[in-house]
Amino acid sequence: MEYSFNSNSEKGRVKALHQYNILDTHEEQDYDNIVELATLICDVPIAMINLIDENRQWSKAKKGIKGDEIHRSLSFCTHAIRDEAVMIVKDAQKDTRFLDNPLVLEKPFIRFYAAVPLSTKEGYKIGTLAVIDQKPKELNNSQLSSLRMLAKQIMTLLDLRLNIKKRKTAETKLQTLNKELRAQVKEKTSEITNIFERVSDAFIAINKDAHITYVNKKAEKMMNENSDKILGKKISDVFPKTVGSELKQFTQKASVTQQPQSYQQYYENSKRWFDNQIYPSPSGASIFIRDITEWKIAEQKENAEKYFSDSIINGLPGIFYLFDTDQNFLRWNKNFETVSGYSGQEIKKMSPLDFFDEKDKLRIQKAIHTTFEKGIVDIEAPFTAKSGHKIPYYFTGKFYDFEDTPCLLGLGIDITQRKQAEEKYRNIFENSLEGIYQSTIDGKFLTANPAMAHILGYDNPEDLIGSISNIENQLYKNPKDRLRLRHLLRRKNEVNGFELQVIKKNNDIIWVNINIRTIKNEEGYILYLEGILKDITKRKIAEEKLKHQFEELQKSNFELDRFVYSVSHDLRAPLASILGLINVAQTEKPTASQNKYWEMVRSSINKLEGFIRDILDYFNNSRSEIKIEEIDFYKILDEVKESLSYLQEIERLNIEIDIHDRVPFYSDENRIKIILNNLFSNAIKYQDLNKESSYFKLKIEITEKQAVINVSDNGIGIEDTYLDKVFNMFYRASENSKGSGLGLYITNEIVDKLGGTIKIKSEAGKGTSFLIIIPSLNKTTARILE
Ligand code: ADP
Repeated sequence: MEYSFNSNSEKGRVKALHQYNILDTHEEQDYDNIVELATLICDVPIAMINLIDENRQWSKAKKGIKGDEIHRSLSFCTHAIRDEAVMIVKDAQKDTRFLDNPLVLEKPFIRFYAAVPLSTKEGYKIGTLAVIDQKPKELNNSQLSSLRMLAKQIMTLLDLRLNIKKRKTAETKLQTLNKELRAQVKEKTSEITNIFERVSDAFIAINKDAHITYVNKKAEKMMNENSDKILGKKISDVFPKTVGSELKQFTQKASVTQQPQSYQQYYENSKRWFDNQIYPSPSGASIFIRDITEWKIAEQKENAEKYFSDSIINGLPGIFYLFDTDQNFLRWNKNFETVSGYSGQEIKKMSPLDFFDEKDKLRIQKAIHTTFEKGIVDIEAPFTAKSGHKIPYYFTGKFYDFEDTPCLLGLGIDITQRKQAEEKYRNIFENSLEGIYQSTIDGKFLTANPAMAHILGYDNPEDLIGSISNIENQLYKNPKDRLRLRHLLRRKNEVNGFELQVIKKNNDIIWVNINIRTIKNEEGYILYLEGILKDITKRKIAEEKLKHQFEELQKSNFELDRFVYSVSHDLRAPLASILGLINVAQTEKPTASQNKYWEMVRSSINKLEGFIRDILDYFNNSRSEIKIEEIDFYKILDEVKESLSYLQEIERLNIEIDIHDRVPFYSDENRIKIILNNLFSNAIKYQDLNKESSYFKLKIEITEKQAVINVSDNGIGIEDTYLDKVFNMFYRASENSKGSGLGLYITNEIVDKLGGTIKIKSEAGKGTSFLIIIPSLNKTTARILE
């Protein structure tokens, strides 16, 4: 039997079959049910679902027949799939196509065959649903349409299977793809991760919302947190607030500008410096954080060192400069700019020679040259500032290898003051009235100023220096003075106020005063002597004269004292006899007027007597030694009263005496008596006769240490203006004074001699009081007072 079919469509058909992937699969209930149903509907014993591939017919389901497959050449279905319609073979034994078919001739002895093709959507007939009987048969229409429906059902099942398969394949594919993708992603990620882990910086990736999506190990370590705890968090929450704010700020800037940002920051907590680089991307940003602490420390150290050397250079008192052999300035200090008035930029373009006057340039150039050749040089020259102002400077230059470049390093110091001092010294030296000189230790003049020459009678310094070759022999009147001076200079470096006589050029002798000092070198060896010499001849003469006059005065004073004393002393006896004679005369019954004259004479004599007594008291106080004895104030006061009884006004005076003497008081009785006598007599003399009554109060308080004497009266008092003068010699406070003006002077002198104090208080018209404090004396204190 021959079969022919369109190979093209056959290929597509087989492919269509294979896509269902159903061949050689297990039996399935759904298909079995259909064949069962087909047998029932068509009332046949055999039904099958056959699928036809290239060479064979394979049964997916069957009933009433055995064997899964037959060769296609035997297959009835091969014929059935050629047509759209249901193929019906009523009796195979009568059909030429099949009558010799083994399936007809042998088991299963097919006689009736009906098959509905199983058509795919594309129209490929991949198999059939066949019903078979072993006897000839016919099918009615409903059986045929049922068969068609079942064939469709089979196709639905197959399509369903195909779909599931397709989906499954797709799923698997997808899974594989997914797997592959994941593997790829993993690979890529690990690749990137490796890169990130390998980079020495801490790396943090953030998404658009600034949530952390990745951190490398370094970052974990830096933040001291596990990545699980960091991932997904907002970056500003992970970092400390202050840091966060900076990071936030720069991250935002990076995101807005889409430009990389970088900044450095010091993390106070860890005490470390970090350099943060932020690279933005549309999906977020990558942040690289590099620990730059070591580098920062080194930088700070370098800066500190630079600052240190800069501050040393800038702290130098003068100007500092460093230039190379081409005379380009490499470094200079601030002072250089200040003094020169040029800016750093200007100095950079200048040469050292630009700072000097034309006339000095050659000298400076030579000095620079010598420095580079010999190593060190110094020079003085005016430094010219930008303003043209010239400042005297002292420069030092030293060869210096600066960063492998031969350089000249130097300092310049303003010597204006020194120059001025030199000038001043020169002026002083030239114009001084005092002789200024320098001499060698063996007696030769080195220098001398005009005054020196003049004092010594020479025409000029040259004349003096040239004429004197041996100071000791030629200048000193007494050579021993030079020895004495040398001796003093050996002990001290300086001798001041040394006075001696020197011989002038014309052999006159003059007195001079020398201040001299030795000038030594570093080893202490005397280089020369430096002296200032003054002509003191006039002073010496005046001194001599004064000395002589003083001696004369002392002598005449002494004589005067003696004279006054003896006269005073000698006068007392005749005065006493005059008073006696007056008494006698008054007993001779004189007339009233005669008596009045006698009284006037008596008063005058008494006054004279008082004056003489004051003078004698004064001399006694100044000459006699303090005689210490226990003072009996009662006895003294009795004697004082007695001696003043000749004063008539004493009658009017109420005398109040109050003495507290529980302890003995030691002093000089005579002197105490003079004090009390003076105060008492004044109270009598200066009573206010206009007042109804007058008083004199004396209060003496004695302690172991001292006697406090309070004297007061209600007399005429003393005007304020005179009060501080009443203790002066011969001072009288009013016209009406009845005394010599010596009493209070002597009183003050005596109080002073006894080591005490006296104070007066007085008011004109009211009265006067004195406060006297006298210490109780012993031998030692008395000796001190003497
Ligand atoms: P005289 O010998 O003149 O009294 P004094 O030295 O004792 O000299 O006193 C100086 C002057 O002080 C007196 O001339 C008198 O004017 C005034 N004077 C001294 N004591 C008193 C007194 N108790 N009351 C008023 N005046 C006094």
